[in-house]
Amino acid sequence: MPMYRQKCATCDELFENLLKIADRDVPQECPYCGGTDTHRQVEAPMMMDPIRAGVKRPDQGFKEVLHRIHERTPGSKLNESQYF
Ligand SMILES: [Zn+2]
Repeated sequence: MPMYRQKCATCDELFENLLKIADRDVPQECPYCGGTDTHRQVEAPMMMDPIRAGVKRPDQGFKEVLHRIHERTPGSKLNESQYF
């Protein structure tokens, strides 16, 4: 059964339910407030990082810009292995 994200109109909380496709638009009981005014959220398409998706390779200029940002940002937790 697919997982559907639901949003409660009463308390604005998001929750997920395993539902049969036929039941996906049936209002579900909110686990936070018990309300039944819930609506299925349409999933936004996954935002793909173009570098990690392999579409774009980082060039030397990009690498230098990252280094400069890192040097100017105290406490920055740049994880270069993520990009190189
Ligand atoms: Zn609720």
